Amino acid sequence: MSEQSIGQGGTAVAQAPAGDMVVVEDLRRTYGSGETAVHALRGVSFTVPRGELVALKGRSGSGKTTVLNLVGGLDSPDGGRITLDGTDLAGLADDDLLALRRDRIGFVFQSFGLIPILTAAENVGVPMRLRKVPARARDERVDLLLSLVGLSDHANQRPGELSGGQQQRVAIARALANSPVLIIADEPTGQLDADTGLAVMDLLRAVVRSEGVTALVATHDTQLLALADRVLELRDGRIVTDE
Ligand code: ADP
Ligand code: MG
Repeated sequence: MSEQSIGQGGTAVAQAPAGDMVVVEDLRRTYGSGETAVHALRGVSFTVPRGELVALKGRSGSGKTTVLNLVGGLDSPDGGRITLDGTDLAGLADDDLLALRRDRIGFVFQSFGLIPILTAAENVGVPMRLRKVPARARDERVDLLLSLVGLSDHANQRPGELSGGQQQRVAIARALANSPVLIIADEPTGQLDADTGLAVMDLLRAVVRSEGVTALVATHDTQLLALADRVLELRDGRIVTDE
């Protein structure tokens, strides 16, 4: 895999300023109400330092996806505060939140989330189309990103013609399309066999280093936790360890 940096415009990514990319304070989220209410998060606080890969572990139902959805602005908390790159999410109008998600966050999901009728290259280009990046600049960046994830030779294949690991690498390239400051990945290796999962996590690790991005990754795969700079553990909606 290429070690070159691929910041917007092909220039090297500037050294990230010190401080925390994500600050989460006393986050609460309850689904439903009354007797059937589920207290998914009961006061969760943590930080994600700039340039680090932070893993969120915890068994199924512990609240990992809820945390990621809130940090990514896909859902709103019932209490607490989220600050992303210095911006308080609660203070944003809907349009600004949408723009922040599109321009500053890259999402990677367990099920890849690729569009089946588009080629790998077209899938990677989608976030840039949404930003109306001119075709030529878009094509150049798609080439760079596909080479970064080692898929230059598969640019014209559709997701159904790629292995699971290759599909997730396309999804990682797509997540990087708009040069996000933060990558949010929810069990990105959950549908992959152990070796492929490790390779995908290795790629995420390498991308965090080479692109200077920050990553928050939920996983319950203990083998992958070793690749994280820091591991947070959730249990029943609370952080139980922060090592
Ligand atoms: P994890 O990702 O760690 O498996 P989740 O954040 O998905 O955990 O879920 C935390 C808790 O919240 C679980 O008890 C789950 O059943 C519940 N939950 C998640 N989403 C919803 C929802 N949309 N409606 C009701 N309950 C939900
Ligand atoms: Mg989950």
